[in-house]
Amino acid sequence: MFNKVTPLLKDKKDTSLTSRSVLFTVIVPCFNEAEALPEFQKQTLAVLDQMQVPYELLYVNDGSTDETQILIDQYAQNLGVRALHLSRNFGKESAMNAGIDYANAQAIIFMDADLQDPPQLIPQMVNTWLDGFDIVNMKRKGRQGDTTTKKVTAKLYYCLMKKLNPSFVIPEQVSDFRLIGPKPLAALKTMPERMMVMKGMIPWLGFNTTEILYNRVAREAGLTKWNYWGLIDLAIEGIISFSKKPIRWYTFAAIVISLITAVAIGFDTAQHGANLIHLIAFILTFLSVGIALIFD
Ligand code: UDP
Ligand code: MG
Repeated sequence: MFNKVTPLLKDKKDTSLTSRSVLFTVIVPCFNEAEALPEFQKQTLAVLDQMQVPYELLYVNDGSTDETQILIDQYAQNLGVRALHLSRNFGKESAMNAGIDYANAQAIIFMDADLQDPPQLIPQMVNTWLDGFDIVNMKRKGRQGDTTTKKVTAKLYYCLMKKLNPSFVIPEQVSDFRLIGPKPLAALKTMPERMMVMKGMIPWLGFNTTEILYNRVAREAGLTKWNYWGLIDLAIEGIISFSKKPIRWYTFAAIVISLITAVAIGFDTAQHGANLIHLIAFILTFLSVGIALIFD
């Protein structure tokens, strides 16, 4: 089944992470996932071991306050499994970024810890990469387990992003579950951004990309960490990172408002003479145009 990577087959007994060449790293950001992790670890290791290739499973503990730390330290006793603990909860994007920095392999795969991203699909993802694709996006057939509000807000977000930046498309129904091959991974690592919004950054990179359809199931156990504030935060970050349009609109509005203000001040001064309000209004519009031009 996995003959494409047979030349990389290694005997597990004499391989160590430092000496072997790791084919891919599965990066798993975890925040308070103690309830879901045992099943995740069991299913994922079963799949990875069956593949018989040098892999790395990297858990990134994003400041969990439950038993997550203890569990992943236990799992890290296994060959090929590593644990990375962040000093506090930074959010999933930061946890994924930390994972990129610490991954040792040629390619990386992002997966959630709650089994919504089925580990059974890893061999197909790796094979698709080895077939010649640089990025393998996993596209959900449906959004089982998601509320209607979440589905609607996600739809709106994609529509807005498409309008704001038509030069590249953020694929719909593609979450963070994807494989990133060596070339895009190297490009990603050279980027100076302090905060990478993966959803936008990966399609922005370009490269030879394909999609695999899959069924996203409900989470294995525990509760979603998703909330509206997090989504709004991510949406704003995405909008201002990938489009100049909002600041363009601001510049345009600032210029129009300052022109209207100048005309109004002119008329009012002619009728009633100059006063302090005119001066303040003039300074404020002058400043807003200046701010717009600096950021534009
Ligand atoms: N996660 C994280 N840090 C956070 C929030 C979430 O590392 O601050 C991880 C979480 O443990 C899971 C993945 O991100 O592995 C997706 O989170 P969740 O399942 O809560 O989101 P949803 O699938 O509901 O959108
Ligand atoms: Mg989830």
